[in-house]
Amino acid sequence: MADLRLPTTPIVRPDKDRFLAEENPFEAMMSRFDRAAELIDLEPGIYKVLRSPEKQIIVSIPVLLDSGEVEVFTGIRVLYNTARGPAKGGIRFDMAVNLDEVKALAAWMTWKCAVVNIPFGGAKGGVICDPLKMSAGELERVTRRYTAGIIKVLGPDSDVPAPDVNTNERVMAWLMDTYSMHVGHTVNAITTGKPVEMGGSLGRREATGRGCMLVAREALAHLGMNIKGATVAVQGFGNVGSIAAQLLRQQGCKITAISDRTGGLVNTKGIDVDDAIEHIRKHKTLEGYTKGDVISNEELLTQGVDVLLPAALENVITTKNAASIKAKIICEGANGPTTAGADTILDEKGIFVIPDILANAGGVTVSYFEWVQNRGGYYWSEKTVNERLEEIMVRSFQEVLHLSLQHKVNMRTAAYMVSINRVATVHKLRGIYA
Ligand code: GLU
Repeated sequence: MADLRLPTTPIVRPDKDRFLAEENPFEAMMSRFDRAAELIDLEPGIYKVLRSPEKQIIVSIPVLLDSGEVEVFTGIRVLYNTARGPAKGGIRFDMAVNLDEVKALAAWMTWKCAVVNIPFGGAKGGVICDPLKMSAGELERVTRRYTAGIIKVLGPDSDVPAPDVNTNERVMAWLMDTYSMHVGHTVNAITTGKPVEMGGSLGRREATGRGCMLVAREALAHLGMNIKGATVAVQGFGNVGSIAAQLLRQQGCKITAISDRTGGLVNTKGIDVDDAIEHIRKHKTLEGYTKGDVISNEELLTQGVDVLLPAALENVITTKNAASIKAKIICEGANGPTTAGADTILDEKGIFVIPDILANAGGVTVSYFEWVQNRGGYYWSEKTVNERLEEIMVRSFQEVLHLSLQHKVNMRTAAYMVSINRVATVHKLRGIYA
């Protein structure tokens, strides 16, 4: 039976204004985009098209709370670009959701799908709410009413949601049911990241963490570093961080620091990841896990390790702490963990950054596999899913690396160059409909 609980370590932003404090998320995304666009000599017309989100929807979501009161939440869905295929991207439930952030995340999804070359465009959605304070019934009503509010854009050929911050398989099951009730028949390809029992893909839950492990492995090999004994610090111990840590450990890495929203711990002898996951399963957070020395989330980022894996929040590596980062490789498991300002500092320090749109693309890649399986009505073994994921992640990493060496640019700029080029090519082929 699928685990339908909400994430065991819900994301709580310690400072929800932090993102806006350093830079506007959409502008931060665009500053990276502009640099890559210039390098590939992007035509001005296509540049204007790619700067503009295709569709932005804001809906009011009236919900009857358990107390009997009515609350009205705000929901957003942005379809950034659908030139290459249906819009694809998660839905998050979080108090810090805002239009600029969702726009940036939807653009990132566009570049992410293009960098791994899967036939999707990009979207993102969110509801401004605090899932920690809501009952399962309230969350179900929010999900269903939000789905109904954006139902006109949803569809297996037009917009396919997935889980994101503080949403999970259970939320996807409600979304799929609501959509299916509206159209009058079961449509499991309407969303990905569903429970396996209702058409979810084997390997989807682990896919983002697995993808991180694969690209970290490629980066270590590229830099001539041995994966056996390579030290790793992981920020965030949810679905992405804990799985990546587990898989990297299986590859021979030593996980020396981990953290979640309650703080972190360091143990230079190596942390038993399975044991830490078991602690979270029992106690919901890492709090009280004593097999190491206590450190803060901020201290985790500046550990002297080979690989730093930020897998929790946006905007944690900033101009304020980038100079203190000692890792040789940063593998961005989260979306947007590094600010544009911090990029320059990391470059100057010679840190090899595997950008989010590549590093965490394993999740959406297996979402694509899920959608393919739903539409074909034929289901793959976990081995097949993992093998195909590995093929795509390794190929994409090597393509980006090749371009980065060829143009002497960092991996982020190279990843944007690859993806913008792919989206722009389709726009040129399709032409401007008038
Ligand atoms: N929310 C995930 C991401 O940011 C997955 C999106 C998807 O599978 O559509 O990549």
